[in-house]
Amino acid sequence: METIESIAANTALVRAREGGGRSWKWKEMLRFPHISQCKDLAMNIERDYYSLCVKQPIGKKLFQLFCRSRPDLQNYISLQDALDNFDIQSDDKRKESGNRIIQRFLMKQSSECVSILLRHERSCNQSLELNPCGDVFHGCREDLHKYLSNEPFTQYQDSMFFARFLQWKQLERQPIMKQTFRQYRLLGKGGFGAVWACQVRATGKMYACKKLEKTHVKKRKREDMALNEKEILQELDSRFVVNLAYAYETKHNLCMVLTMMNGGDLGFHIHRMGSPGLTKDRVRFYAAEVCCGLIHLHQKSILYRDLKPENILLDDNGHIRISDLGLAVKMSEGSLVRGRVGTLGYMAPEVIGYERYGMSVDWWGLGCLIYEMTAGRPPFRAKGEQPKSSEMERRIQNEHEEYGNQFSKETKDICSSLLTKDPTKRLGSQKSGGKDVKFHPFFQEINFRMLEAGRVDPPFKPDPSQVYCTDVQDIEEFSTVKGVHFDQTDSFFYSQFNTGSNSIIWQNELIETGCFEELNVFGPKGSASPDLDW
Ligand code: ADP
Ligand code: MG
Ligand code: MG
Repeated sequence: METIESIAANTALVRAREGGGRSWKWKEMLRFPHISQCKDLAMNIERDYYSLCVKQPIGKKLFQLFCRSRPDLQNYISLQDALDNFDIQSDDKRKESGNRIIQRFLMKQSSECVSILLRHERSCNQSLELNPCGDVFHGCREDLHKYLSNEPFTQYQDSMFFARFLQWKQLERQPIMKQTFRQYRLLGKGGFGAVWACQVRATGKMYACKKLEKTHVKKRKREDMALNEKEILQELDSRFVVNLAYAYETKHNLCMVLTMMNGGDLGFHIHRMGSPGLTKDRVRFYAAEVCCGLIHLHQKSILYRDLKPENILLDDNGHIRISDLGLAVKMSEGSLVRGRVGTLGYMAPEVIGYERYGMSVDWWGLGCLIYEMTAGRPPFRAKGEQPKSSEMERRIQNEHEEYGNQFSKETKDICSSLLTKDPTKRLGSQKSGGKDVKFHPFFQEINFRMLEAGRVDPPFKPDPSQVYCTDVQDIEEFSTVKGVHFDQTDSFFYSQFNTGSNSIIWQNELIETGCFEELNVFGPKGSASPDLDW
């Protein structure tokens, strides 16, 4: 039953999500330090063009503003914008959009011609003709960056735009603490702590805060695990995996602030929204996005090991992200790992058999997921059945899963290819890895290029007024642990964990919430503002 408490908690959360929500003191919270306070930063920041002017979103914006202020660099930046735009064009518009780029920037007669790139005209025309969905302007882009990374980048570092960048970086490094956020309702509970909805006071951005209780972590010696999860998340940047925005500590907790996923997990959607299972277009869409997430992880040599519906979360629009990287491991080149981890029903035969294994176990997991989304139950367990572990193990290793009439020919085929017992013969485990999976006929209707650009509309959009999680009072409280004492080693571990803001995510937060635009003003007629005067 819904209690008053639960209704109140949900209402507060829904209101906060609806937008606004910046503290009335937000400008004070984000006041630029005087540039003289950025001297250390200026001395120590790595002067790497790619990191400063391409990868970091605020860095990219300021570098572009600098270029826009220089007449001789206008065309370079217009071209960069045009190329970014070209990347997200739908298939049928690529040719036209590509031709326009060639005419504007790669032809001598054009007023916007970028002369250092003229030599690319022929090859770009050719590849646009042959394969408009390929990386047509690859060479152009490389030369463009090569050019900008020389003299323009040097000049930029002496400009007020770079000084302003340093001010943003200084703000980015502000210590993160409990007071940085407002807290809303409890969203869920895991092994070591709870996940709460929270909101950054200064920007109004909503996140999910995963809190690990220091006492629990210490009592169960999970320091390495906690640090591992944080470090892996920190390294990732994919629209198909939750982002880590901040990592910080409070007196009692270690906190990871993650992308807020308001749409609930796939387990909830498969089992608790009407008759179990999902429609074929949803199954295909979620499977395709999970597939992209796995490929991203595997490219970084990260094995996920915990694929199951409960760990796949939906956002406001109905896109999914892989979450809970507590069991993920970074593999060293060409090696395999051992270790019986995961959730029994979803473990691959080679994991159960204590063998060494690699990325193949995640492809098995994808097989289980597609099966469960389609059938409304996992492959080796009947509805409502709770077999003993030994029986589950036997079935996974020896029995073949059954396919009912919900499975189309392609769905059945991809499931049985992914659920191949021998990991060396399993789909996805060959040399080309995830590519084989993408090319399976099951995904025929998916345009992976568009999907990766975030340009495919999800087949289902969560209702913004609904809270897709268990009622607050039904999420169990944590037991308190007594008799744990902290020492020097603990402090060292906490300091490794407590790394504050994650640059790219933080900068995106400021841009998305409009704070960047509102605060990034200069003096009149392009002059520096007083805080920028060394
Ligand atoms: P554990 O590692 O302890 O299992 P999880 O990371 O799986 O913890 O989080 C526990 C629960 O919290 C999840 O099942 C989900 O309900 C909720 N949750 C976790 N991350 C998010 C998020 N980013 N957005 C919304 N809810 C989340
Ligand atoms: Mg979990
Ligand atoms: Mg976990």
